[in-house]
Amino acid sequence: MTTKLNHQKPASELLRFALPLIMQNGVPPTPKNYTIWYEYVAGNNKNLVAAIDDLIKKQAAFSDQINSELYSNYIACEQEKEIEHLRSELQKILHESEEHISDATDEASRYKTKLEDHTAHLNTGLDSNKILRVIDALSSETQEMVNTNSNLQTKLTNMSQELTGLRHQLEMVHSELMTDALTGLMNRKSFDCTLKEAASISQETRSNLCLMMIDVDHFKRINDNYGHIVGDEVLRFIAMKMKEVIKGRDIVSRFGGEEFAIILPDTPFSGALHIAEELRKTISTSKLRRKSSQQTLDNITISIGVARYRLHEDLDVFIHRADRGLYHAKHNGRNKVIDGEKL
Ligand code: GH3
Ligand code: MG
Ligand code: MG
Repeated sequence: MTTKLNHQKPASELLRFALPLIMQNGVPPTPKNYTIWYEYVAGNNKNLVAAIDDLIKKQAAFSDQINSELYSNYIACEQEKEIEHLRSELQKILHESEEHISDATDEASRYKTKLEDHTAHLNTGLDSNKILRVIDALSSETQEMVNTNSNLQTKLTNMSQELTGLRHQLEMVHSELMTDALTGLMNRKSFDCTLKEAASISQETRSNLCLMMIDVDHFKRINDNYGHIVGDEVLRFIAMKMKEVIKGRDIVSRFGGEEFAIILPDTPFSGALHIAEELRKTISTSKLRRKSSQQTLDNITISIGVARYRLHEDLDVFIHRADRGLYHAKHNGRNKVIDGEKL
Protein backbone atom coordinates (compact mmCIF):
# COMPACT_ATOMS: atom_id res chain seq x y z
CA MET A 1 0.00 0.00 0.00
CA THR A 2 1.09 3.56 -0.53
CA THR A 3 -0.57 5.65 2.14
CA LYS A 4 -0.13 4.63 5.73
CA LEU A 5 -1.15 7.09 8.37
CA ASN A 6 -1.10 6.85 12.08
CA HIS A 7 -3.73 7.12 14.79
CA GLN A 8 -2.64 10.67 15.67
CA LYS A 9 -4.39 11.83 12.51
CA PRO A 10 -7.97 13.01 12.96
CA ALA A 11 -10.67 10.46 12.15
CA SER A 12 -12.00 12.58 9.29
CA GLU A 13 -8.61 12.53 7.59
CA LEU A 14 -8.30 8.76 7.96
CA LEU A 15 -11.76 8.39 6.46
CA ARG A 16 -10.79 10.64 3.57
CA PHE A 17 -8.00 8.21 2.72
CA ALA A 18 -10.11 5.13 3.39
CA LEU A 19 -13.04 6.06 1.14
CA PRO A 20 -11.21 6.07 -2.23
CA LEU A 21 -9.67 2.70 -1.32
CA ILE A 22 -13.10 1.29 -0.51
CA MET A 23 -14.39 2.46 -3.89
CA GLN A 24 -11.26 1.39 -5.78
CA ASN A 25 -11.49 -2.12 -4.41
CA GLY A 26 -15.22 -2.47 -5.00
CA VAL A 27 -15.96 -2.93 -1.32
CA PRO A 28 -19.58 -2.26 -0.24
CA PRO A 29 -19.52 0.73 2.14
CA THR A 30 -20.98 -0.97 5.19
CA PRO A 31 -19.97 0.12 8.71
CA LYS A 32 -17.83 -3.00 9.19
CA ASN A 33 -16.04 -2.42 5.90
CA TYR A 34 -15.46 1.22 6.86
CA THR A 35 -13.89 0.00 10.07
CA ILE A 36 -11.61 -2.40 8.18
CA TRP A 37 -10.35 0.22 5.75
CA TYR A 38 -10.14 2.91 8.38
CA GLU A 39 -7.88 0.63 10.41
CA TYR A 40 -5.94 -0.17 7.24
CA VAL A 41 -5.06 3.47 6.51
CA ALA A 42 -4.41 4.10 10.20
CA GLY A 43 -1.73 1.43 9.79
CA ASN A 44 -1.56 0.34 13.44
CA ASN A 45 -3.10 -3.08 12.96
CA LYS A 46 -0.08 -4.69 11.25
CA ASN A 47 -1.70 -8.07 10.60
CA LEU A 48 -4.71 -6.48 8.97
CA VAL A 49 -2.48 -4.30 6.78
CA ALA A 50 -0.43 -7.36 5.72
CA ALA A 51 -3.58 -9.38 4.94
CA ILE A 52 -5.08 -6.59 2.81
CA ASP A 53 -1.78 -5.87 1.05
CA ASP A 54 -1.57 -9.54 0.21
CA LEU A 55 -5.11 -9.60 -1.19
CA ILE A 56 -4.41 -6.50 -3.28
CA LYS A 57 -1.18 -8.05 -4.59
CA LYS A 58 -3.06 -11.19 -5.61
CA GLN A 59 -5.76 -8.99 -7.14
CA ALA A 60 -8.31 -10.97 -5.15
CA ALA A 61 -11.90 -9.74 -5.13
CA PHE A 62 -13.11 -8.30 -1.83
CA SER A 63 -16.10 -10.62 -1.68
CA ASP A 64 -18.60 -10.50 1.20
CA GLN A 65 -16.92 -13.58 2.65
CA ILE A 66 -13.43 -12.04 2.53
CA ASN A 67 -14.69 -8.77 4.03
CA SER A 68 -16.41 -10.59 6.83
CA GLU A 69 -13.28 -12.72 7.48
CA LEU A 70 -11.10 -9.59 7.59
CA TYR A 71 -13.43 -8.15 10.18
CA SER A 72 -13.69 -11.20 12.39
CA ASN A 73 -9.98 -12.15 12.09
CA TYR A 74 -8.37 -8.75 12.49
CA ILE A 75 -10.88 -6.29 13.95
CA ALA A 76 -13.22 -8.21 16.24
CA CYS A 77 -10.34 -10.25 17.62
CA GLU A 78 -8.33 -7.09 18.36
CA GLN A 79 -11.11 -6.00 20.71
CA GLU A 80 -11.22 -9.45 22.27
CA LYS A 81 -7.46 -9.21 22.79
CA GLU A 82 -7.84 -5.85 24.46
CA ILE A 83 -10.41 -7.25 26.86
CA GLU A 84 -8.11 -10.18 27.59
CA HIS A 85 -5.28 -7.75 28.32
CA LEU A 86 -7.46 -5.74 30.70
CA ARG A 87 -8.52 -8.92 32.43
CA SER A 88 -4.93 -10.00 33.07
CA GLU A 89 -3.99 -6.49 34.30
CA LEU A 90 -6.84 -6.67 36.75
CA GLN A 91 -5.69 -10.06 37.95
CA LYS A 92 -2.16 -8.71 38.47
CA ILE A 93 -3.45 -5.82 40.56
CA LEU A 94 -5.59 -8.07 42.72
CA HIS A 95 -2.66 -10.41 43.23
CA GLU A 96 -0.39 -7.51 44.25
CA SER A 97 -2.97 -6.19 46.69
CA GLU A 98 -3.22 -9.63 48.30
CA GLU A 99 0.57 -9.64 48.72
CA HIS A 100 0.65 -6.16 50.25
CA ILE A 101 -2.12 -7.00 52.65
CA SER A 102 -0.48 -10.23 53.73
CA ASP A 103 2.88 -8.41 54.20
CA ALA A 104 1.09 -5.90 56.39
CA THR A 105 -0.63 -8.65 58.31
CA ASP A 106 2.73 -10.33 58.96
CA GLU A 107 4.06 -6.98 60.13
CA ALA A 108 1.07 -6.48 62.42
CA SER A 109 1.45 -9.90 63.99
CA ARG A 110 5.18 -9.27 64.61
CA TYR A 111 4.18 -6.01 66.28
CA LYS A 112 1.63 -7.82 68.41
CA THR A 113 4.29 -10.32 69.56
CA LYS A 114 6.61 -7.47 70.50
CA LEU A 115 3.86 -5.76 72.47
CA GLU A 116 3.19 -9.00 74.29
CA ASP A 117 6.93 -9.34 75.09
CA HIS A 118 7.03 -5.84 76.51
CA THR A 119 3.89 -6.41 78.56
CA ALA A 120 5.43 -9.58 79.99
CA HIS A 121 8.55 -7.59 80.80
CA LEU A 122 6.55 -4.89 82.53
CA ASN A 123 4.73 -7.50 84.62
CA THR A 124 8.03 -8.57 86.14
CA GLY A 125 8.42 -5.13 87.80
CA LEU A 126 11.14 -2.86 86.37
CA ASP A 127 12.94 0.25 87.50
CA SER A 128 12.26 3.60 85.87
CA ASN A 129 15.27 3.33 83.53
CA LYS A 130 14.18 0.00 82.22
CA ILE A 131 10.63 1.27 81.84
CA LEU A 132 11.97 4.20 79.86
CA ARG A 133 13.84 1.79 77.57
CA VAL A 134 10.67 -0.24 77.10
CA ILE A 135 8.79 2.97 76.24
CA ASP A 136 11.51 3.94 73.73
CA ALA A 137 11.43 0.50 72.14
CA LEU A 138 7.63 0.58 72.01
CA SER A 139 7.55 3.98 70.44
CA SER A 140 10.07 3.08 67.73
CA GLU A 141 8.20 -0.16 66.94
CA THR A 142 4.93 1.72 66.88
CA GLN A 143 6.46 4.21 64.45
CA GLU A 144 7.57 1.31 62.24
CA MET A 145 4.05 -0.06 62.29
CA VAL A 146 2.66 3.35 61.37
CA ASN A 147 5.14 3.52 58.47
CA THR A 148 4.18 0.05 57.28
CA ASN A 149 0.55 1.00 57.43
CA SER A 150 1.04 4.26 55.60
CA ASN A 151 3.08 2.44 52.92
CA LEU A 152 0.27 -0.01 52.59
CA GLN A 153 -2.22 2.83 52.40
CA THR A 154 -0.22 4.50 49.60
CA LYS A 155 0.04 1.22 47.72
CA LEU A 156 -3.65 0.54 48.09
CA THR A 157 -4.52 4.08 47.01
CA ASN A 158 -2.34 3.65 43.91
CA MET A 159 -3.96 0.35 43.18
CA SER A 160 -7.40 1.74 43.59
CA GLN A 161 -6.48 4.48 41.09
CA GLU A 162 -5.19 1.83 38.68
CA LEU A 163 -8.40 -0.10 39.11
CA THR A 164 -10.46 2.99 38.34
CA GLY A 165 -8.39 3.50 35.18
CA LEU A 166 -8.86 -0.09 34.13
CA ARG A 167 -12.56 0.08 34.77
CA HIS A 168 -12.76 3.16 32.59
CA GLN A 169 -10.86 1.40 29.78
CA LEU A 170 -13.08 -1.63 30.06
CA GLU A 171 -16.18 0.53 29.88
CA MET A 172 -14.84 2.18 26.74
CA VAL A 173 -14.10 -1.15 25.04
CA HIS A 174 -17.49 -2.44 26.11
CA SER A 175 -19.29 0.59 24.78
CA GLU A 176 -17.30 0.40 21.50
CA LEU A 177 -18.36 -3.20 21.15
CA MET A 178 -22.00 -2.34 21.72
CA THR A 179 -22.27 0.94 19.79
CA ASP A 180 -22.68 1.58 16.10
CA ALA A 181 -19.84 3.89 15.10
CA LEU A 182 -21.75 5.80 12.42
CA THR A 183 -24.96 6.67 14.28
CA GLY A 184 -23.98 6.23 17.91
CA LEU A 185 -27.00 3.95 18.34
CA MET A 186 -26.80 0.46 19.82
CA ASN A 187 -25.44 -2.00 17.29
CA ARG A 188 -26.82 -5.38 16.28
CA LYS A 189 -24.99 -7.25 19.02
CA SER A 190 -26.41 -4.90 21.59
CA PHE A 191 -29.88 -5.21 20.04
CA ASP A 192 -29.76 -9.00 20.40
CA CYS A 193 -28.86 -8.75 24.10
CA THR A 194 -31.43 -6.05 24.82
CA LEU A 195 -34.26 -7.88 23.07
CA LYS A 196 -33.47 -11.06 24.99
CA GLU A 197 -33.52 -9.17 28.26
CA ALA A 198 -36.74 -7.32 27.37
CA ALA A 199 -38.44 -10.61 26.41
CA SER A 200 -37.51 -12.24 29.69
CA ILE A 201 -38.81 -9.23 31.66
CA SER A 202 -42.02 -9.30 29.62
CA GLN A 203 -42.35 -13.00 30.43
CA GLU A 204 -41.73 -12.49 34.15
CA THR A 205 -43.99 -9.48 34.60
CA ARG A 206 -46.55 -10.38 31.91
CA SER A 207 -46.03 -6.92 30.42
CA ASN A 208 -46.36 -5.93 26.77
CA LEU A 209 -43.35 -5.90 24.49
CA CYS A 210 -43.42 -4.60 20.94
CA LEU A 211 -40.87 -4.38 18.16
CA MET A 212 -40.53 -2.20 15.07
CA MET A 213 -38.35 -3.10 12.11
CA ILE A 214 -37.57 -0.08 9.99
CA ASP A 215 -35.92 0.23 6.59
CA VAL A 216 -35.09 3.40 4.67
CA ASP A 217 -36.86 3.48 1.33
CA HIS A 218 -34.77 3.54 -1.83
CA PHE A 219 -31.68 4.35 0.14
CA LYS A 220 -29.46 3.14 -2.66
CA ARG A 221 -30.75 6.08 -4.72
CA ILE A 222 -29.64 8.52 -2.04
CA ASN A 223 -26.13 7.09 -2.20
CA ASP A 224 -26.22 7.04 -6.00
CA ASN A 225 -27.55 10.60 -6.31
CA TYR A 226 -25.57 12.34 -3.60
CA GLY A 227 -22.72 10.01 -2.67
CA HIS A 228 -22.02 7.85 0.35
CA ILE A 229 -20.97 10.69 2.60
CA VAL A 230 -24.39 12.29 2.26
CA GLY A 231 -25.90 8.80 2.62
CA ASP A 232 -24.12 8.49 5.95
CA GLU A 233 -25.39 11.92 7.02
CA VAL A 234 -28.93 10.84 6.18
CA LEU A 235 -28.54 7.72 8.34
CA ARG A 236 -27.30 9.87 11.21
CA PHE A 237 -30.22 12.24 10.74
CA ILE A 238 -32.76 9.40 10.78
CA ALA A 239 -31.14 7.97 13.91
CA MET A 240 -31.41 11.35 15.63
CA LYS A 241 -35.08 11.79 14.64
CA MET A 242 -35.94 8.33 15.91
CA LYS A 243 -34.40 9.12 19.26
CA GLU A 244 -36.42 12.33 19.39
CA VAL A 245 -39.74 10.64 18.65
CA ILE A 246 -39.44 7.65 20.97
CA LYS A 247 -39.40 8.15 24.68
CA GLY A 248 -38.90 6.54 28.03
CA ARG A 249 -37.55 3.05 27.92
CA ASP A 250 -37.83 2.46 24.17
CA ILE A 251 -34.51 1.56 22.55
CA VAL A 252 -33.43 2.36 19.02
CA SER A 253 -30.68 0.33 17.40
CA ARG A 254 -29.06 0.01 14.02
CA PHE A 255 -29.95 -3.46 12.85
CA GLY A 256 -27.59 -3.27 9.88
CA GLY A 257 -27.01 -1.10 6.77
CA GLU A 258 -30.03 1.18 6.41
CA GLU A 259 -32.20 -0.90 8.72
CA PHE A 260 -33.12 0.02 12.26
CA ALA A 261 -35.04 -1.70 15.02
CA ILE A 262 -36.91 -0.24 17.98
CA ILE A 263 -37.67 -2.28 21.08
CA LEU A 264 -40.67 -0.98 23.02
CA PRO A 265 -40.92 -2.53 26.47
CA ASP A 266 -44.12 -2.15 28.45
CA THR A 267 -45.95 -0.69 25.46
CA PRO A 268 -49.39 -1.81 24.26
CA PHE A 269 -49.54 -2.79 20.60
CA SER A 270 -51.88 0.12 19.70
CA GLY A 271 -49.30 2.47 21.26
CA ALA A 272 -46.48 0.93 19.23
CA LEU A 273 -48.48 1.35 16.00
CA HIS A 274 -49.15 4.96 16.95
CA ILE A 275 -45.45 5.71 17.58
CA ALA A 276 -44.51 3.99 14.31
CA GLU A 277 -46.93 6.20 12.42
CA GLU A 278 -45.60 9.30 14.14
CA LEU A 279 -42.06 8.27 13.23
CA ARG A 280 -42.98 7.62 9.61
CA LYS A 281 -44.67 11.04 9.35
CA THR A 282 -41.78 12.87 11.04
CA ILE A 283 -39.22 11.43 8.62
CA SER A 284 -41.30 11.87 5.48
CA THR A 285 -42.03 15.53 6.25
CA SER A 286 -38.47 16.43 7.22
CA LYS A 287 -36.57 18.66 4.85
CA LEU A 288 -32.90 17.81 4.51
CA ARG A 289 -30.42 20.27 3.09
CA ARG A 290 -26.83 19.67 2.09
CA LYS A 291 -24.54 21.69 4.31
CA SER A 292 -22.21 22.64 1.49
CA SER A 293 -24.65 23.79 -1.20
CA GLN A 294 -27.88 24.23 0.78
CA GLN A 295 -29.44 22.02 -1.93
CA THR A 296 -32.60 20.31 -0.61
CA LEU A 297 -32.53 16.53 -0.83
CA ASP A 298 -35.46 14.49 -2.11
CA ASN A 299 -37.85 13.54 0.68
CA ILE A 300 -36.66 10.58 2.70
CA THR A 301 -39.20 7.94 3.68
CA ILE A 302 -39.13 4.82 5.80
CA SER A 303 -41.17 1.62 5.90
CA ILE A 304 -42.03 0.00 9.22
CA GLY A 305 -43.29 -3.41 10.35
CA VAL A 306 -44.61 -3.77 13.91
CA ALA A 307 -45.06 -6.93 16.01
CA ARG A 308 -46.14 -7.85 19.52
CA TYR A 309 -44.25 -10.43 21.59
CA ARG A 310 -46.15 -13.60 22.40
CA LEU A 311 -45.13 -15.25 25.65
CA HIS A 312 -42.57 -18.06 25.29
CA GLU A 313 -42.12 -17.60 21.57
CA ASP A 314 -38.71 -17.78 19.95
CA LEU A 315 -37.18 -14.33 19.41
CA ASP A 316 -36.46 -15.12 15.76
CA VAL A 317 -40.17 -15.73 15.23
CA PHE A 318 -40.98 -12.39 16.91
CA ILE A 319 -38.46 -10.52 14.73
CA HIS A 320 -39.71 -12.35 11.67
CA ARG A 321 -43.28 -11.10 12.25
CA ALA A 322 -42.09 -7.49 12.41
CA ASP A 323 -39.96 -8.17 9.33
CA ARG A 324 -42.96 -9.51 7.45
CA GLY A 325 -44.80 -6.29 8.22
CA LEU A 326 -41.83 -4.38 6.82
CA TYR A 327 -41.74 -6.57 3.72
CA HIS A 328 -45.43 -5.90 3.09
CA ALA A 329 -44.91 -2.16 3.61
CA LYS A 330 -42.24 -2.29 0.89
CA HIS A 331 -44.49 -4.19 -1.47
CA ASN A 332 -47.41 -1.90 -0.88
CA GLY A 333 -45.75 1.29 -1.99
CA ARG A 334 -43.27 2.02 0.87
CA ASN A 335 -43.59 4.95 3.33
CA LYS A 336 -46.04 2.81 5.32
CA VAL A 337 -46.55 1.21 8.72
CA ILE A 338 -47.83 -2.38 8.55
CA ASP A 339 -49.19 -4.42 11.44
CA GLY A 340 -47.19 -7.66 11.37
CA GLU A 341 -49.78 -9.40 13.58
CA LYS A 342 -52.49 -9.26 10.90
CA LEU A 343 -50.51 -11.05 8.16
P1 GH3 B 1 -35.69 -0.48 -0.47
O1 GH3 B 1 -36.66 0.63 -0.49
O2 GH3 B 1 -36.25 -1.70 -1.15
O3 GH3 B 1 -35.19 -0.79 0.89
O4 GH3 B 1 -34.46 -0.03 -1.36
P2 GH3 B 1 -33.00 0.35 -0.88
O5 GH3 B 1 -32.33 1.03 -2.00
O6 GH3 B 1 -33.07 1.09 0.39
O7 GH3 B 1 -32.42 -1.07 -0.56
P3 GH3 B 1 -31.14 -1.82 -1.05
O8 GH3 B 1 -31.01 -3.00 -0.13
O9 GH3 B 1 -31.17 -2.08 -2.50
O10 GH3 B 1 -29.94 -0.82 -0.78
C1 GH3 B 1 -29.53 -0.47 0.47
C2 GH3 B 1 -28.31 0.41 0.32
O11 GH3 B 1 -27.86 0.90 1.57
C3 GH3 B 1 -27.14 -0.32 -0.29
C4 GH3 B 1 -25.98 0.00 0.61
O12 GH3 B 1 -24.85 0.38 -0.12
C5 GH3 B 1 -26.47 1.14 1.45
N1 GH3 B 1 -25.86 1.20 2.74
C6 GH3 B 1 -25.84 0.26 3.71
N2 GH3 B 1 -25.14 0.69 4.76
C7 GH3 B 1 -24.69 1.94 4.49
C8 GH3 B 1 -23.91 2.91 5.20
O13 GH3 B 1 -23.46 2.71 6.34
N3 GH3 B 1 -23.68 4.09 4.60
C9 GH3 B 1 -24.15 4.35 3.34
N4 GH3 B 1 -23.89 5.55 2.82
N5 GH3 B 1 -24.85 3.45 2.65
C10 GH3 B 1 -25.13 2.27 3.22
MG1 MG C 1 -32.53 -2.82 3.52
MG1 MG D 1 -33.90 0.21 2.09
